[in-house]
Amino acid sequence: MILIFMGAPGAGKGTQSKLVEKEKNIPQISTGDILREAVSKQTEMGKKAKAFMDAGELVPDSVVIGIIADKIQEAVCAQGFILDGFPRNIEQAEALDKLLIEHKKEIYRVISFLVSEDELTERLLKRAQIEERTDDNAESIKTRLTLFKKKTQPLLDYYAKRGKLVDIDGSGAISEVAERVEKAIG
Ligand code: AMP
Repeated sequence: MILIFMGAPGAGKGTQSKLVEKEKNIPQISTGDILREAVSKQTEMGKKAKAFMDAGELVPDSVVIGIIADKIQEAVCAQGFILDGFPRNIEQAEALDKLLIEHKKEIYRVISFLVSEDELTERLLKRAQIEERTDDNAESIKTRLTLFKKKTQPLLDYYAKRGKLVDIDGSGAISEVAERVEKAIG
């Protein structure tokens, strides 16, 4: 079962994908988490990615596509996986299609989390206080929301046309959203 969780920063993809990971016993793959770990370990990849991430810009496609290509061939991903934060633009979606064809796999569903911009900003500013993410500042939040609209939102159409997209209301409490996710996955 290959799932893609899509939504603006703060829409709850990370929280919900971790719940589904436990529930369905398939790993969550978060390019954001993998990149943050690389930054904290100061690996070559981390050094390359840090400035983009702090500014709220997208890390180059070659870097994130490389992460996904490596991950999905791991044995733990054999029964499926949840992509959280990838793909984020058309180039990445096309690269994913190619990888899945190579591995004879298919996307099951793309879950799109819909949350109003006011609620997103409120959640991100709250998260900034709790997690101390260096990109949860007003300037970077604005860039990330703009990039989501410009680069990632067109992907919703890309997946809707193939009958893969399920929209869910991402507002409200974690448990309420989790119920909607469960229904959407079936
Ligand atoms: P996230 O935790 O998904 O919000 O990602 C945090 C940051 O990591 C983003 O603002 C980007 O700088 C970078 N990042 C994560 N996933 C991707 C991706 N698929 N493409 C490009 N940059 C990404």
